[in-house]
Amino acid sequence: MSSEKSVKKAAELLRQGATMLSESCPECSSPLYKLRSGEIVCPIHGKVIIAKDDQEERKLRREIMLEYTEQVLVDSLNNVIEKLRSDPMNSEVLVQIIRYLDSLERLKRITDHKHIEEK
Ligand SMILES: [Zn+2]
Repeated sequence: MSSEKSVKKAAELLRQGATMLSESCPECSSPLYKLRSGEIVCPIHGKVIIAKDDQEERKLRREIMLEYTEQVLVDSLNNVIEKLRSDPMNSEVLVQIIRYLDSLERLKRITDHKHIEEK
C-alpha cells in the first residue's frame, strides 16, 4: 500500500472516532490507531495486537489461535455442507457435519469460559 493510501486510511480512521496512539506498528512503524471498539489497527496492516508483557502476549496468542480455529472449522463446515447439498443421503457427510458442530460447540465453551475469567 502506498503511503498516500495509508494517510487516507488514517484520516478515515480518525473520522470514525479512532484515536492515534504513541505506539507504532511493529512491521511498518506507522502510528497505530485505537478504534472506538477498543481494537488497535495499523492503517496498512489492519488489526494489530500490542502485548504489555509476556503473560499478556501468551493470552493474546491463545485468543488468536482460538479465533483461527473457529474460522477454519466454520470454513470446513461450509465445504462439508456443500457436499451434503449435492449428496443429501450421504450419512458419512452428515457425521462429519455433526463432528464440526461438536467442535464448534466445544470451542465456544472454551471462549465463553475465557470471558467469565476476565470479569
Ligand atoms: Zn503496519
